Amino acid sequence: MSSPAWAVELLDAVCTDAGVAPPRLLWRNRRGEHSTGVTRRGDGLVAVRAGSDLLDQRLTLLHELAHWLSTPARRRRGQSVHHGRQFYAVAFALYRRHGLTDADALRLESARYRSSLRHAVALGVTGAVEALAAHRSTIRARPRRRWRVLVPEHSIRLERDGRWAVCVTCRQRVVGINLARIRRAHRPVRHVLMTAAS
Ligand SMILES: [Zn+2]
Ligand SMILES: [Zn+2]
Repeated sequence: MSSPAWAVELLDAVCTDAGVAPPRLLWRNRRGEHSTGVTRRGDGLVAVRAGSDLLDQRLTLLHELAHWLSTPARRRRGQSVHHGRQFYAVAFALYRRHGLTDADALRLESARYRSSLRHAVALGVTGAVEALAAHRSTIRARPRRRWRVLVPEHSIRLERDGRWAVCVTCRQRVVGINLARIRRAHRPVRHVLMTAAS
């Protein structure tokens, strides 16, 4: 699908302000409220999968454009620093300049990267100190979950369910490294399906 007009305009405004060539914008929809994005510098591309929340779409595009404008990440212990202080200095400035309140920017950005709160405090973003304190007290106050066994321990046999591999017995989806491990295993791997007790 083609990108919405506001997104194209926003991308042009940000890149013109910064005096950099704009990336291509690839826009798709996803289910759910939240959007996701990725910047592929080598391909000259910013891709957004847009959820239903318009403010979050805007923040997501600006987040990716902050990657586009940021100098390529320094490496620390062989790892790229994608979301460090320098990145957030660019990102929060863009959020503020392009229509997000600091409160919305903190709320939406910290929903994806908790570490953004720490950087926001250091950058003096309004409300960041309070948001970080609130986040910490929520963690302390969170009741420990209690778990109970929903399906007792059993060997995993996989079958396809649409695009997913699921356990025949408990229907749990098996993905990622677990899936690879189970496929490689010579002896059957066992698991238990737990559920949070209310
Ligand atoms: Zn990012
Ligand atoms: Zn199972």
